[in-house]
Amino acid sequence: MRIVVLAGGIGGARFLRGLRKTAPDAEITVIGNTGDDIFLFGLKVCPDLDTVMYTLGGGINEEQGWGRADETFHVKEELAAYEVEPTWFGLGDRDFATHIVRTQMLDAGYPLSAVTEALCHRWRPGVRLIPMTDDRVETHVVISDEQGRRAIHFQEWWVRLRASVPAEAITPIGADEAKPAPGVLDAIERADVVLLPPSNPVVSVGTILAVPGIREAVAARTVVGVSPIIGGAPVRGMADACLTAIGVETTARAVAEHYGPGLLDGWLVDDADAAVAEEGVEGIAVRARPLLMTDVDAAAGIARAALDLAEEVR
Ligand code: GDP
Ligand code: CA
Repeated sequence: MRIVVLAGGIGGARFLRGLRKTAPDAEITVIGNTGDDIFLFGLKVCPDLDTVMYTLGGGINEEQGWGRADETFHVKEELAAYEVEPTWFGLGDRDFATHIVRTQMLDAGYPLSAVTEALCHRWRPGVRLIPMTDDRVETHVVISDEQGRRAIHFQEWWVRLRASVPAEAITPIGADEAKPAPGVLDAIERADVVLLPPSNPVVSVGTILAVPGIREAVAARTVVGVSPIIGGAPVRGMADACLTAIGVETTARAVAEHYGPGLLDGWLVDDADAAVAEEGVEGIAVRARPLLMTDVDAAAGIARAALDLAEEVR
C-alpha cells in the first residue's frame, strides 16, 4: 500500500509515528511543509522537516515535541552574550549541527530535497521525507503594531509574539512560483490514499497545498483528514489565530468545510465533536473517535481509523 501524508511539525510527526506502527509494510511518503523555514545566523533552518525527522528517528525532545533530546544551549548563550539577534528562537547545540550540514550542502549546490534525503540517511525515519518544494517559500504574517502595518516572518509572529498580535493576513511568499520538489507529484499520483494529519490547516497543510500542482494532484486521490481542532480549540499551539486570519471558525466542522468536499473524502473528528459526525458535512464522510495522540499507540489507533475510513470511501 502506498500512502502520502502532507505534514507540518508536531501534529504531523506524532501522527506519522502512529501510522508507521499500524501500517508497517506500507510505503509512506511524507511531503513536508517548508513555509516555516528561516535563515538564522546564516544557517537554513527547516523546523517542520526536522520535527518529522527527529520524531521518527528517535531524536526528538518528547515533552517539548520539537528540538533534540538531551539538548544543551551553549552556542545560543554565547550568541546572546555577543548580543546577536534573534534571541527568541531556541536552537540547541545538537540541533545546530543539522543546520550546519544542511547549509553546507545547499551552499555546495544540492537542492533541499537531496539534502533532506542525506540528513535522513542518519535518522532512518522509515518513511520517505520530501520537502514540498526545493524553491524558497517563506510564510509571512501581516500585523499592525506601534511600528505600523508590516509583514513579519511567520516564526517571529509565532515564536516571538506567540501569535498575540492578530494576523491581518498570512501569505506563503514564493509559493505561487514554487515547483513541487522532485518526487512529490509522482508520489501523490501513485498513492492509494493521501492523509492529512492533524497539522495546522493554514500554515502547514495550507502552505503545502499552495504550491501549484499539489492541490489538484491530491484532490484526484482518496483523501482522509484528521481534525487538529477538538471541542473548538487547537490541541496545542495557536492554530485558532491562523484560522481566524483566514476567516475560518476554530471548529472541526469549519476546518472540514474549509478543505471542502473537492479535496476531502473523509474526515475524523474527536468524540467531543460527535455532533459533527451525526449532522454530517456535505460531501464528506465524517466519523468520530478519540483523537488525542497521548502516546504512539493512541496515534496508531487514529492512523488506523483514517486508513479504514479511506477504505470505506474509496
Ligand atoms: P507545528 O508545525 O509544530 O505547529 O505542527 P503541525 O502543523 O503538524 O500541527 C499543529 C496542530 O496539531 C495543532 O493545530 C494542534 O491542535 C494539533 N495537534 C497536536 N497534538 C494533537 C493531538 O494529539 N490530536 C489532534 N487531533 N491534534 C493535535
Ligand atoms: Ca510548523
